[in-house]
Amino acid sequence: MSAFLDFGSDAVLLAGLTGDNWRLKDYVARGGYESLKKILSERIAPEQILAEIKLSVLRGRGGAGFPTGMKWGFMPRGAPEKYVICNADEGEPGTFKDRDILRFNPHAVIEGMVIAAYVMGCARGYNYIHGEIWEVYERCEEAVDEARAAGFIGSRILGSDFSFELFNHHGFGAYICGEETALLESIEGKKGQSRYKPPFPANVGLYGKPTTVNNVETFACVPLIVKNGGQWFLELGRPNAGGTKIFSVSGDVERPGNYELRMGAPFAKLLEMAGGVRDGRKLKAVIPGGSSSPVVPGAVMMETDLDYDSIAKAGSMMGSGAVIVMDETRCMVRCLARLSEFYHDESCGQCTPCREGTGWLSRMMHRIEHGEGRPGDIEALDRIAHDIMGRTICAMGDAAAMPVRSFIKHFRDEFEYHIEHRRCQVADYV
Ligand code: SF4
Repeated sequence: MSAFLDFGSDAVLLAGLTGDNWRLKDYVARGGYESLKKILSERIAPEQILAEIKLSVLRGRGGAGFPTGMKWGFMPRGAPEKYVICNADEGEPGTFKDRDILRFNPHAVIEGMVIAAYVMGCARGYNYIHGEIWEVYERCEEAVDEARAAGFIGSRILGSDFSFELFNHHGFGAYICGEETALLESIEGKKGQSRYKPPFPANVGLYGKPTTVNNVETFACVPLIVKNGGQWFLELGRPNAGGTKIFSVSGDVERPGNYELRMGAPFAKLLEMAGGVRDGRKLKAVIPGGSSSPVVPGAVMMETDLDYDSIAKAGSMMGSGAVIVMDETRCMVRCLARLSEFYHDESCGQCTPCREGTGWLSRMMHRIEHGEGRPGDIEALDRIAHDIMGRTICAMGDAAAMPVRSFIKHFRDEFEYHIEHRRCQVADYV
């Protein structure tokens, strides 16, 4: 998806990548696997590495933003069989960073996974890759083969007494398999449907064993933290969110693509890097964290920094860092209709509020968009979305409902116009 390789001057994860320097020899030339070598040759205690990860305030890059060190700390000590899993099932509309990390820098993720396995005492791991990016799966297969041949994964890694096997596993494109428990079901060969929590995967995960699932970008940060220290990573970002963040910018910008910025950089800087709003038009709205995060009016977003707290203050979420930019020509009714159809299509159907509610939302939005809206539809949409939230097994119910409530909140006039005039308001003034 990335149209070109310009990840920004703040880049540390993606620095120096040219598109064809992804192989083991290139990664090693950039200092890759030094962290793993140091850990194993100096027999650094897992607790010491865990302390650095905690110090770094690395938060999960998949969407939830949970502190990585704390998550690793939940894994029970001494359990004989444990798993570490990379969630590369990147399916959130607007998100396309993980596929570029795996495409251009797969060994950073592999090294991060091996270190994570060492810290948590796991002997096996899986990289679960979205089913619609087959060439990325093939690249990961080649990268794992290279790492195994060089002794970075496998039995007695680099002559130490630590062994770890890593397997790539591809899904078949279901959005819900990005939810960690549905992902576990899928690896086990079952239908990809979320599990009830608790128990949490740290206690009952893959094959019923303790399991930690982290995002691609999260693992890619780990070797850098080990190499440069937790404090270095922390200082790249904000006090409660260390490091840089890769933002996938799409929509109405001149140069869509992935850009790496320090956590807390202004949104205005990111927009400038992406070439500004397409054709010099006005910025209307931004979805800052993937399609499931609430939409924010453009003027508010221009005053917002890209970190968890600032985006929450603006009424949305950092999510996966997928920034969808919408200019003044976008009909917000049409945008929401598209999103609602997606979530209806991807509901796994286990719980009634999500299965039925996403269908109602999608059908009502379709009606309104096509000039068949009725008085009371806006209130009904908001009520249905409200009734879905917090009443489902997994977070997909909320993911489907939050955009609805935010689109209505900020752009109610467009919905009213569609219902009253049976056509789009935007075409009148653009
Ligand atoms: Fe499935 Fe939706 Fe329920 Fe999640 S919220 S378990 S996707 S029906």
